[in-house]
Amino acid sequence: MSDWSKVTRPIPVPNEWTKPFWDAAKQGVLALQRCQSCGNIQHPPYPTCVQCMGVDLKFEPVRGAGTIYAYTIMYHTGDKRFASVVPYASIVVELDDAPGALMAGNLLGVPYTEAKVGRRVEVVFEPLNDDITLPQFRLAD
Ligand SMILES: [Zn+2]
Repeated sequence: MSDWSKVTRPIPVPNEWTKPFWDAAKQGVLALQRCQSCGNIQHPPYPTCVQCMGVDLKFEPVRGAGTIYAYTIMYHTGDKRFASVVPYASIVVELDDAPGALMAGNLLGVPYTEAKVGRRVEVVFEPLNDDITLPQFRLAD
């Protein structure tokens, strides 16, 4: 199992579209962009709704439960900061509350061989520094 405690991750840089997502994650809340016109939840954030082109978008909390939609096993270390954790699983999750909105993360707490399409996962929050907390995933009970 990969030990992420020794990895210094690249730090995301929030912008005007993603700042509410990162602010919520810092509080241990997963908040995604919801269109106030048609109700579509989308991720990553965009200036307009990808369904109706509406511009009235607000971030709202969603439950962090979902299903692995796709995954890849990382064997190579293009970024040497990740050398100590290969192989590891990078997963794409479809959240129950946001069908169609896909969210990427790592599968933590289990060997990479546990990453399978359709497995249930839940969000966990990994603080990277005082400002940025990274939503990640673990297998759900
Ligand atoms: Zn919309």
